[in-house]
Amino acid sequence: MTQPMIGHRGQETKALLKSIKPKLQGIFGTKEDVLIITGSGTAGLETAVVNTVNPGDEVLVLVTGAFGDRFVKICDAYDIKVHRLEATWGEAACPEEVKTYLLANKKIKVVFTTYCETSTGVLNPVSQLANVVHENSDALVVVDGVSCVGGVETKMDEWGIDVLVTGSQKAFMLPAGLTFVAASEKAWKVMEENKQSRFYLNLIKYRDRLADDSTPFTPALSLLFGLEQVLNLFEEEGLENVFARHTLMMNMTRAAMKALDIPLLTSDESASPTVTAVKPSDFDPEMLRKVLKKEFGLSIAGGQQHLKGQIFRIGHMGYCSPADVLQIIGILEIGIVKVGKMINLGEGVKAAQEIYLQQEALV
Ligand SMILES: *Cc1c(COP(=O)(O)O)cnc(C)c1O
Repeated sequence: MTQPMIGHRGQETKALLKSIKPKLQGIFGTKEDVLIITGSGTAGLETAVVNTVNPGDEVLVLVTGAFGDRFVKICDAYDIKVHRLEATWGEAACPEEVKTYLLANKKIKVVFTTYCETSTGVLNPVSQLANVVHENSDALVVVDGVSCVGGVETKMDEWGIDVLVTGSQKAFMLPAGLTFVAASEKAWKVMEENKQSRFYLNLIKYRDRLADDSTPFTPALSLLFGLEQVLNLFEEEGLENVFARHTLMMNMTRAAMKALDIPLLTSDESASPTVTAVKPSDFDPEMLRKVLKKEFGLSIAGGQQHLKGQIFRIGHMGYCSPADVLQIIGILEIGIVKVGKMINLGEGVKAAQEIYLQQEALV
């Protein structure tokens, strides 16, 4: 990423985009183009909104946490009528409820959902959700996959996802600054007829230029250099192994918390392989975060919105391995003792080690 700049309209950049293109498609699970836009993940979410929704249209947003809520806020910024179907934070969106809602509200044109709800550590059942949407309406299914695509299996075409968005700084292991958006044939038809005004985020421009291995505006070249290497890393490890590693890190983290008798926010069934939210009942998560940061330089996230002060979150995605998980749990145990909870040191680490060994035995 520290390579000198190259001409962004020259042959070298064309060759770079040409090599990136098919690799991104593999990660999205799509034969459609994956467009690269310079902007953070939210630019990708806004791209999905302004390209698929006409002014005055009705949409349904499945809110399972702060990022579902972000779709609502983006839609509110445009002239869009938003229906909000909210789950208890920490739980997944329920396909049956979506079905009932769609049958009672026939004008809904787009359903927005979040694959991994980063604020709660829930992995929503997007394949089932897309299925009920398509069976019960003509609506498009738009999925925010920012905090998990690249870390969990994603089959955009097979699952019937119409627009899928992700970003560079989560499971893609890069600094922030790129967002990736792909759309189904059905979504392209809607986008071509869409009357919403848009300029920088007009996805059609990106599609037309990518056909020529180019971008409509100056690309963030340094990030593209990094992206090519990230895609090479995925290829070297093998996507199946990347996903298995994330599942293993999730299982190790969850087993450790259970062994230490610290409640998890999500059920095993709806837990995301990329981030684990923990809801301690007998110590203050904010104090724990402070101790870890001060004594070990270790940053773990807190809660967002109404979960602020109630949970802490451990990210285990991207450039992260079972070795990191073991280290972090060891550190966490010290922090937990320091904030006043009685535990037997090593029990969390031991539980995680056991999960690791069990999984090794399977290979
Ligand atoms: C991080 C994240 C985003 C994007 O946030 P930016 O700060 O704009 O990159 C969107 N959705 C989810 C689920 C996220 O975790």
